[in-house]
Amino acid sequence: MSAIDTLPPLREVIATHGLTAKKALGQNFLLDLNLTARIARAAGDLTGCDVLEVGPGPGGLTRGLLAEGARRVVAIEKDARCLPALAQIAEAYPGRLEVLNADALALDWTAHLAPPIKVVANLPYNVGTELLVRWLTPPSWPPLWQSLTLMFQREVAERIVAPPGSKAYGRLAILAQWRAEARIALTLPPEAFTPAPKVRSAVVHLTALPAPRFPADPAVLERVVAKAFNQRRKMLRAALKGLAPDIEDRILAAGLSPTERAEQVPIEGFCALARAVAA
Ligand code: SAM
Repeated sequence: MSAIDTLPPLREVIATHGLTAKKALGQNFLLDLNLTARIARAAGDLTGCDVLEVGPGPGGLTRGLLAEGARRVVAIEKDARCLPALAQIAEAYPGRLEVLNADALALDWTAHLAPPIKVVANLPYNVGTELLVRWLTPPSWPPLWQSLTLMFQREVAERIVAPPGSKAYGRLAILAQWRAEARIALTLPPEAFTPAPKVRSAVVHLTALPAPRFPADPAVLERVVAKAFNQRRKMLRAALKGLAPDIEDRILAAGLSPTERAEQVPIEGFCALARAVAA
C-alpha cells in the first residue's frame, strides 16, 4: 500500500490492467508515488485549483495531484487501456477526477475547467513542446492557466529556462520568459521511469506574469525570433534579411547592432526589434 492513498501500488495497477508501455505514445511511467507527490507539490498550493493533466497513464501523478488537495483534476488520456485504472482513482476521489479519452492536441479543454487553473503533466515527449508552445501563445494574455508544471527531456527544459548568451538560448526561452517566470523545479534520472528512457528529465515550473515583461505584438515577435534563430550563428543583419527592406535601420532603431548575433540579444532587445519592425 502506498503512503499517499489507499489505492493499490502502481506496479499492481499496471499488471492488473496490462499496461505494457507503448513507445509510440511516449509511455514512460512514474511508479513512485512519493515522487509523483513531489511533482504535484512543485506546482504550489493546489487547494481551490482545477488542474489540467495531460497523459495520466496509470495515474501516478493524478493520485499525487488529488492527494495534494486539487479541487478537481481533468485528465486527458489518449490510450483507452488506461481508463479502468483511472476510473478506480475517480471512485476513490468522488467528483474530483474527470477523465477525457482524447488526443490532447485535438481537444479544446477550456470548457472543462474553472479558474484558477494549473497545468501539471508528465508529458509524452513527442507532443510536449507542441503543447507548451500552444499554452504559451493563447489568443490573449494573461492566459487561462496560472502556472504550468511540466516534465521534459532535460535538454528541452534547459532551452526553456536558458539566459541570453547561453548555447540553449533561443525561440523557446524567449517565448517562455517573455510572459512567464520559468525555472527548473527538479531533475530526474532515467531510472525514475518505467521503462527508463535514454535521456534525463526535468520538471519546469512556469508562472504566468500578469502582463508581458516588454511590449511587443506577439505575432511580430514570433516572426522576428524565428528568423533570427533560424541561422543563429549569423549576424542580425544577415539573419533578418528579407524581414523589411531597411532592416539594418530598424535594428539600429531598436538600439541593437546589425553585427550582433541572435543568441546575444536579450528578450528586451527582441521586443524592441519587433516594435521597430512593426512600426
Ligand atoms: N502521467 C503518467 C506518469 O507520470 O506515469 C504517464 C506519463 S507518460 C510519459 C505519457 C502519457 O501520455 C501516456 O499515458 C500516453 O498514453 C499519454 N499520451 C501520449 N500522447 C498523448 C496525446 N496526444 N494526448 C493525450 N495523452 C497522450
